[in-house]
Amino acid sequence: MLRFLLWVLLLYWLLVIVRRVVSWMLGITRAQDGTGAKPREASRRLQRDPVCGVHVAEEISFPLREGGTTLYFCSEECRRKYTASGTGNVSKEA
Ligand SMILES: [Zn+2]
Repeated sequence: MLRFLLWVLLLYWLLVIVRRVVSWMLGITRAQDGTGAKPREASRRLQRDPVCGVHVAEEISFPLREGGTTLYFCSEECRRKYTASGTGNVSKEA
């Protein structure tokens, strides 16, 4: 009976190790694909909302072109606040 339990334990342990190795290998191949293809981080850049100071991803932000730069806001409301304040010196560096 004890031997049987030991076998079960051993098999379970082996399964866990195999799973770990497989996921590790998958992770490596994914990382290699990532370096070959476009770097994903570029599309996930975080921009700081100058109004409330929240960091927001570019693709989900509310951009506002001002002069040569683009500002990114977390919400329509923040963008409105910024534009309403004229040059935008409302920003509290909080
Ligand atoms: Zn905001």
